[in-house]
Amino acid sequence: MSIHYTIQPTSPAAHIFTVTLEISDPDPTGQVLRLPAWIPGSYLVREFSKNIVQIEARDSGENLVGLDKLDKHTWKAAPVQGALKLTYQVYAWDLSVRMAHLDQNHGYFNGTSVFLEVIGQAEGLHTVDIQAPSDPHCKDWRIATTLKELEAERYGFGSYQAESHDELIDHPVEMGTFELLHFQAAGVPHEVAVTGPHNGDLQRLVNDLIPICTHQIEMFGKPAPMDRYLFQLMLIGNGYGGLEHRASTSLIAKRADLPMLGEHKVSDGYRQLLGLCSHEYFHTWNVKRIKPARFVPYDLSTENYTTLLWAFEGITSYYDDLILNRTERIETDSYLELLGRTITRVRGGSGRLKQSLAESSFDAWTKFYRQDENAPNAIVSYYAKGSLAALALDLTIRLETEGAKSLDDVMRALWTEYGAKGIGVPEMGIEDVAQRITGVDLSHFFEHAVRGTEDLPLRALLAAFGVELRFRPGKNGTDRGGKAAEEEDALRNKGRIGAKITGDKIKQVLDEGPAQDVGLSAGDVIVAINGIKAVKAEAMLAGYPPGTTVTIHAFRRDELFERQVTLAAPSEHYAYLKIMEEVEPEVLARRVSWLKGL
Ligand code: ZN
Repeated sequence: MSIHYTIQPTSPAAHIFTVTLEISDPDPTGQVLRLPAWIPGSYLVREFSKNIVQIEARDSGENLVGLDKLDKHTWKAAPVQGALKLTYQVYAWDLSVRMAHLDQNHGYFNGTSVFLEVIGQAEGLHTVDIQAPSDPHCKDWRIATTLKELEAERYGFGSYQAESHDELIDHPVEMGTFELLHFQAAGVPHEVAVTGPHNGDLQRLVNDLIPICTHQIEMFGKPAPMDRYLFQLMLIGNGYGGLEHRASTSLIAKRADLPMLGEHKVSDGYRQLLGLCSHEYFHTWNVKRIKPARFVPYDLSTENYTTLLWAFEGITSYYDDLILNRTERIETDSYLELLGRTITRVRGGSGRLKQSLAESSFDAWTKFYRQDENAPNAIVSYYAKGSLAALALDLTIRLETEGAKSLDDVMRALWTEYGAKGIGVPEMGIEDVAQRITGVDLSHFFEHAVRGTEDLPLRALLAAFGVELRFRPGKNGTDRGGKAAEEEDALRNKGRIGAKITGDKIKQVLDEGPAQDVGLSAGDVIVAINGIKAVKAEAMLAGYPPGTTVTIHAFRRDELFERQVTLAAPSEHYAYLKIMEEVEPEVLARRVSWLKGL
């Protein structure tokens, strides 16, 4: 029995990969084949099969075999004697970490976009011959992937192997003329393959990744679960994204986020890039191996529902930046700024008072991944609030156990009891492990934080660690919080209509604000405020104090209308954190232990 694929970038100019699939022993009653509808880590049904342009089946005598399409992503070949061979073309023009992309500069694919699953034979050896393009523009290409080599040389075109279809599709492949850097972390060889033009300091990136990776391997305990790890980094003018895999991650970032040679400060963009690397690396344990039982195995033909995404994305989002601080890649003030921004994000919408973390996780497929203009009023992010729940959980455990235990202990236990053994985590498993490992009754905590919608008691918890949480009014639509503002009282004097406005266009209308009260809606274009042409509408409105009634003329579609709007005071949900200088020694000890990971 063998399952063998070939994949070749046959037409980089037309963005076409050609794939063949040879099945030595197809189902004698007719072989069923299916392409995944979604990719693990990105919880949206994306219908990858829409990119299959042509498909045909032949028998071992090269005769065409009937191929019935059963549904959007499933085919059934007529029964054949001997082997069955499928040939199909895949259109690859999605510049994201989730699908496939091909031009004369590089090629990239996730197996979920290109490798049909042979139903009934998903377990067992799968081999793939990755062939070089014949396009002369691509003559110097090589390959960066963590697929195991069969006969290929490392980084070379040739044959690779996987033990199952699930493994085959979890090692994305980059091909092109990428730069390659190597480093060791806790004895594990790591590589960084960088695609795209840039003038950045890659050695500094490597120097920062070494302590981040080492810290995570040591936190979960040696040996690391992978014998090799690859960062596939694509640099473009504007973009951001990452997706975790069992031994690699695919990242897209702005080339301007890399530090320049000779530069030493940590820019906002570089901090974000390091946070992204740290985040995806943490997933090597948390979600790639410690994973919901409902993902074991994945059903890639349809939505897989779990209430636990808050733990897999939220806890990961908590640790990603915290580890930058623990490993001294960023200063503590910088870490607290990021925390303040996350609190600001969560507090900015009333959706947090309507949807719990468990619900946000469960409905990721239809809500978080399909956000519209009403999202702030309807949903809460299981990333952002999930990371705050993880913070609150960590601080609670540290307080209740007087520093004897922390969330680190919970993560290690989840790793040894579930992840390392390949056992899926039941829906209540994380809560059960947390209580058992720490000896703390956390039932009330989880009821509130995970299944409730009240705000987390962060101010009191942070104060016990010598960190003061403050809130202030926002400055403008681009204010993300995290830092104090000058002249807070002056900010309180700037009128608001309770809407996010870009230029003259209303993007979002917040619950119970003046805009919603008078029926201004997302998509409306403000043309005049008190008879003056609206250019930057938000700034013009901020020129009037709260309580002022202004006349707004706006278009909805092509219909002009007028409203009298009484301006409100700015919302005071912009969070920032301050280290308390004069604190008791035990508070200081708690703070150091939390921030340094002791
Ligand atoms: Zn993630």
